Amino acid sequence: LGLTGGVRGFVPTMGALHRGHFALMEQCAKECSTPVVSIFVNPKQFGPTEDFSRYPRTLEADLELCKRAGCKVVFTPDSETIYGNATTTIHVEGVSELYEGAIRPGHFDGVATVVNALFNIVQPNVAYFGWKDVQQCAVISNMVEALHLPVRLQFCETVRESDGLALSSRNRYLSAENRKLAPTLFRTMTELAKQILHQPNLGRELMDEYCAEKRDALTNSGFEVDYLDVIDPATMRPSRFTANSRIIVAAKIGSTRLIDNIPIQS
Ligand code: AMP
Repeated sequence: LGLTGGVRGFVPTMGALHRGHFALMEQCAKECSTPVVSIFVNPKQFGPTEDFSRYPRTLEADLELCKRAGCKVVFTPDSETIYGNATTTIHVEGVSELYEGAIRPGHFDGVATVVNALFNIVQPNVAYFGWKDVQQCAVISNMVEALHLPVRLQFCETVRESDGLALSSRNRYLSAENRKLAPTLFRTMTELAKQILHQPNLGRELMDEYCAEKRDALTNSGFEVDYLDVIDPATMRPSRFTANSRIIVAAKIGSTRLIDNIPIQS
């Protein structure tokens, strides 16, 4: 990139940028003298039956948003530039096993491999990621520690629509009817958080029961639930309530799969 001096900040994205990405880019631009964004729809993190080919691509609008957020350097590599003929994969054990990792085999290998490559190309001092993808945060933290990557990670809280739906590039796939139903995910997590805060010493057994109730409620509203659980974001394993634990959820409405999570706070 030919950029020297100061603090280089980095926001890796897959494009189809929205206000969630914008918040990350704005924070990066505020905190770093050289803010850099990448836009790369990474084929390696999509499964064979997933939406790689129909993933939204809106480069012109994306570049405009980057500029408005104060990020003038935008890296838009192609697959050949990132991978060439190389076949090396990074696998982060443990934190990539459950939840998204169980449902999307190979997904986090694709994420870790591309983020490591992007870090090596962009050489940021600080990199920004959204809590929206909490397991991705865990995988990248673990990789940075394991490989001693010289980068500081900043995780930013999820940006939501006014009805609670977390912004996502995939929200545009929702039909009008399903769009109305989608905020139920956030509402359900918020209800569970309240229940837990009323009984902070809740054991894991009762916690499991509460989670099962919420899964059933979502199923009855028309969701196909992959998981809903209370986890420790450092280990991505089920946990009791602690200051760090989060409620995570993944569910399909129609053919659109949504993921979300919240901290458990009053
Ligand atoms: P993606 O383009 O989906 O790979 O996301 C790029 C980055 O933006 C990731 O670090 C995401 O966690 C983050 N992100 C996605 N949606 C949101 C949101 N609604 N609020 C905050 N960050 C987000």
